[in-house]
Parts: sequence; structure tokens; C-alpha cells
Amino acid sequence: MSKVRIATVWLDGCSGCHMSFLDMDERLMELASKVEVVYSPLVDVKSFPDGVDVTLVEGAVSSEEDLEKIRSVRERTKILVSLGDCAVTANVPSMRNPFGVDAVVGRAYLENAALKPQVPKEFVPPLLKRVRPVHEAVKVDVFVPGCPPSADTIHFVLSELMEGRLPDLRGRSRFGA
Ligand code: SF4
Repeated sequence: MSKVRIATVWLDGCSGCHMSFLDMDERLMELASKVEVVYSPLVDVKSFPDGVDVTLVEGAVSSEEDLEKIRSVRERTKILVSLGDCAVTANVPSMRNPFGVDAVVGRAYLENAALKPQVPKEFVPPLLKRVRPVHEAVKVDVFVPGCPPSADTIHFVLSELMEGRLPDLRGRSRFGA
């Protein structure tokens, strides 16, 4: 039987959702016999491949780079999962929305810089005016709230998807937990 091709993507998040994924501990070994991780910050693959069955997305869409990436991921993925509150609601990253990009960038790179204050022109992707949840940028198939979702919840989601079912998360996860 061919393995399910899964990917994980890290947009504007703290990596806590990926840490929760790793917290599946020994269950990762059981999953490894059934899935192939074809792209993730956890593996050494540089470009997102075609034909991915399931992609878990951590983080909100904050920059032009995030937007381009999630559109490309969506095109190559059958089932896209918003993993965690930042992906589902924009959560913590969206706290900058009321202030505007100029104020936030100025605060980070000018007001709080102890040495050579300057706004970087290279290597830092331009920010979008507003941080957005993933589903405002592309279609999302499964929403998994939690900050982060527990390892049990992530395991349940993957197990259900591998059985060909969309996971019913009622009573299993909630925002902020
Ligand atoms: S949902 Fe929570 S744990 Fe996940 S990336 Fe956002 S802040 Fe981090």
C-alpha cells in the first residue's frame, strides 16, 4: 500500500504547533509506517512538491512571501489543514493589525534598535497590510483550533484523514487550549 504523502508548513507562528506535532512521540513511529513526510521544517527538503495528500499549516499569513507560499501549497495539496489558532484566526500575529505596518516596522527596527537603526531592504519579506488567517487567503478543508492543538488532537486528525474521513473535532479541541 502506498504511503500517504504529508507536508507541514510554517508561516507566521511560533513553532509551538510543530512542537506539538513532535509531542506525538512514539506515535510518530507508528505514523512513519503509513505516511511519508515530503516537505516540512522538520525535514531537509527545500521546495514544496506536487501531489501532496495532506498539508498541516502552522501560522497566519503575514507577508507577501507567506501569501505566495500558501497559494502554491494549496495548488499542490488535496487536503489543507489549518493547524492551531494562528492559522485558524490569525491569533497572536494579528495583534499588529490595529497599528499598521509602518508603526510596527518602525518600532522593531528603528525605535528599539541599539545599533545602526535601519529598516532592512533585503532578506525580510514585505509585510501585508493586515495579517490574515489561512482561509482568507486560500480554501481550507479542516480547521484545528488550539494554541497549540494537543498531540492527541493532531494524532486524531491524521488518523481520521488516513482512514479517508474528515475529522469531527467537536469536543476534542478549543481555542487557546
Ligand atoms: S497557535 Fe499558538 S502554538 Fe501555534 S503558532 Fe500560534 S502561538 Fe504558536
